[in-house]
Amino acid sequence: MIDILDKTDCTGCGACAGVCGKSCIDLLPDDDGFLYPVIDQARCVSCHLCEKACPVINYPGKVNAEKTFSAYANDSSIRRTSSSGGVFYLLAEHILRNHGVVFGAAFNPNLIVEHTCITEIRDLPKLQMSKYVQSRSHDVYLSVKQYLAKERPVLFTGTPCQIAGLKGYLKKDYDHLYTQDIICHGVPSPLLWESHKQYIKNSMGITLTNVEFRNKTKGWRNYDINYIDRQKSHLISHDDDDYMKIYFSKICLRPSCYRCAFKGENRASDLTLGDFWGVEKVMPEMDDNKGTSIVFCNTEKGMDLFSEISDKLTCKEVSYEEAVASNPMALKSVSESFRKDRFYRILKKRSYQKTVHRFLKQQARMKKSVALKNDYIIVKNEKGALFAVLWKIVHRHKYLA
Ligand SMILES: Cc1cc2nc3c(=O)[nH]c(=O)nc-3n(C[C@H](O)[C@H](O)[C@H](O)COP(=O)(O)OP(=O)(O)OC[C@H]3O[C@@H](n4cnc5c(N)ncnc54)[C@H](O)[C@@H]3O)c2cc1C
Ligand code: SF4
Ligand code: SF4
Ligand code: SF4
Repeated sequence: MIDILDKTDCTGCGACAGVCGKSCIDLLPDDDGFLYPVIDQARCVSCHLCEKACPVINYPGKVNAEKTFSAYANDSSIRRTSSSGGVFYLLAEHILRNHGVVFGAAFNPNLIVEHTCITEIRDLPKLQMSKYVQSRSHDVYLSVKQYLAKERPVLFTGTPCQIAGLKGYLKKDYDHLYTQDIICHGVPSPLLWESHKQYIKNSMGITLTNVEFRNKTKGWRNYDINYIDRQKSHLISHDDDDYMKIYFSKICLRPSCYRCAFKGENRASDLTLGDFWGVEKVMPEMDDNKGTSIVFCNTEKGMDLFSEISDKLTCKEVSYEEAVASNPMALKSVSESFRKDRFYRILKKRSYQKTVHRFLKQQARMKKSVALKNDYIIVKNEKGALFAVLWKIVHRHKYLA
């Protein structure tokens, strides 16, 4: 029976729950809103299937990016509605045109993010664009297996840990299964996203019907988050939006994201997509601030699928090193803030608005008063000595990536 001793290990992929023949594993939210397996021990028959499926216990394998590309869709409307270069749309469209099905993260009618399956091109917008919250993915694993059994081509997309989870669940490879993951910064908890939605509804007085995390009206780099009330847009720059500020502040991610086991070559996917940050330095001719993707072709199968859409792309090969130079999340985890545990603790006691503003204020103050010297963090305020000692201990135990 699966036993999570350290919460930083479990990604919440749900492979363990999916394979349990006795249905005695449920994925339930912890106090911070992250999903973890909970086992009904009375019904467990100690078959160990859950342990065998867990991609953290049995690592699914390594890839070696065969080729790396800088790419974007030639159709500007596809790029406009995608986070980076629109490569996902073209891959998915190709699979759908070939009698296949596509799985990815979508908003449900309550704007909760969960994996869903589409079979029609007209439904592709549901899966387009990054949603910066953990998607519930394990409910669709059985459906993936059923489509594969019917010999339908399947494209399964998600975070690297979700691809590893699916592979752990399936236990075998299929020629007609294609997997695509993303360069992943990490995911906040669904509970945080619920609190933010409530705050937006109350503070802006709107009925929230959709959200675009990466609206490109002002360009790919200076993107806005778009809160949509029926047809009406409410754009807020990502630099000014509370949720995006907290997302990038290292305090709200799932514990496993600070020690992610699926970075660099430790992926289980055929293809990896990301934003080609730094493209203006490496190949300025591929940059018009409308969104350029990095594409890692991790397997031959991934390379073949990518070749199938090449006539719809502007594309140039690039070295792996140049591609990741300005994108550290491709290789390493976000470093952990010592304020992380306090953030969720206080969020449970106080209002979302008060908690977020308090932490963002503290962060702005700390930015001014914190300096790095010889591996030590020197905090220049009256609590400086205490902070410096804490960081030294954390650093020595390699909790930082
Ligand atoms: C949580 C998250 C963190 C990211 N962090 C980085 C980063 O640090 N650096 C970087 O270069 N790129 C990052 N990306 C990837 C990047 O933003 C684009 O998604 C990627 O480049 C593909 O872009 P696209 O234009 O081809 O397709 P898009 O249409 O923008 O992307 C759609 C794809 O994203 C998937 N997706 C969307 N939301 C989620 C979710 N919550 N969970 C799982 N899958 C999801 C969909 O299933 C679909 O496959 C992140 C994406 C997400 C969702
Ligand atoms: S050991 Fe078998 S029965 Fe028990 S939880 Fe794991 S999969 Fe289910
Ligand atoms: S299979 Fe996934 S959800 Fe289950 S324990 Fe392992 S990482 Fe966690
Ligand atoms: S950072 Fe790693 S553990 Fe976190 S969501 Fe991304 S792939 Fe999963």
